[in-house]
Amino acid sequence: MGEFGLIGRLTAALGGDAAAGQVESARLGGGLLVGIGDDAAAWMQPNAVLVATTDMLVEGIHFNLDWTSWYDLGWKALAVNLSDVAAMGAAPGVALVSLGLRPDTPIADVEAFYAGMQELATVSGCTVAGGDTVSVCSDTVINVAVLGSMPAAEAGTLLRRGHGRPGYRLGVTGFLGASAGGLHALRTGVDVTVSGVGALLDAHRRPQPRLEAGAALRAAGVRCAMDVSDGLLADLGKLCATAGCGATVRADSLPVHPALRSLFPDMALGWAAGGGEDYELLFAAPHDVMERAVAALMLLGLPATDIGELVTDPDVRIVDGAGQSVTIQAPGWDHFGHA
Ligand SMILES: [Mg+2]
Repeated sequence: MGEFGLIGRLTAALGGDAAAGQVESARLGGGLLVGIGDDAAAWMQPNAVLVATTDMLVEGIHFNLDWTSWYDLGWKALAVNLSDVAAMGAAPGVALVSLGLRPDTPIADVEAFYAGMQELATVSGCTVAGGDTVSVCSDTVINVAVLGSMPAAEAGTLLRRGHGRPGYRLGVTGFLGASAGGLHALRTGVDVTVSGVGALLDAHRRPQPRLEAGAALRAAGVRCAMDVSDGLLADLGKLCATAGCGATVRADSLPVHPALRSLFPDMALGWAAGGGEDYELLFAAPHDVMERAVAALMLLGLPATDIGELVTDPDVRIVDGAGQSVTIQAPGWDHFGHA
């Protein structure tokens, strides 16, 4: 069934339209602006739009303590949630953290987890404000929820997956594939002193949520965005399914991380297209808005790349420089579909 299929089934069980992303219209009565099927939920309060998102990380599925420090785990558990807040163009407020820990977990490890989380919270303007701790029999479980906001008057500018339209240019921030390359380096024991490996490890261990970029995109007039967590092509497929369109992506335009090109030339393009855990922002906008947005991101010191366009035909096509369809081995990350 896959994660996307499961979400559709559960959405139907909650009384929404089974097509993820189409639920909010049925539920606007409660002030809900965005329901299931986007990066975060959003609802209206008298003076603000509130957004909420949550992510669960399970040992052995999402992280491996053999090569992940508790400090980095704390950073990353918050980062993946802040990335979803960024993908709505909102600002984070508070985080709630629930841990399922084995009884023999050293307290120093738990302290390191919170220290890593606090470092990112401080630079992100987010406060860790509570949570829950329980004991588990085997695998460690981490759940973080983040609440954020934006001014009520700006409710119409929320970044939405479904706001893409055929003809819009398609952009992505930063570089792609570095996290997958870093994970590969950790799994295979690549020499960390080799030039470029450190950048890949950093990308995997401490992803940088694009909060400033999300705000800048919104200010530039962009209205369609999502974060790239499951791999560019997998996430683009979700954006297109929600927006009711397709996309054409130029393979030679993908911003492959430079360290990947030199260290893993054979895998670089596949990881950039489908490696996952990039936590960059994928966005779509009319041509003039896209130019403004790319310029605004440059002022933040964050490169952004035009990688193609949204089209009427519902497929996601990858093309070469001559416009011919090509195939990239890019499995993506499906939480319920991978071995
Ligand atoms: Mg997301």
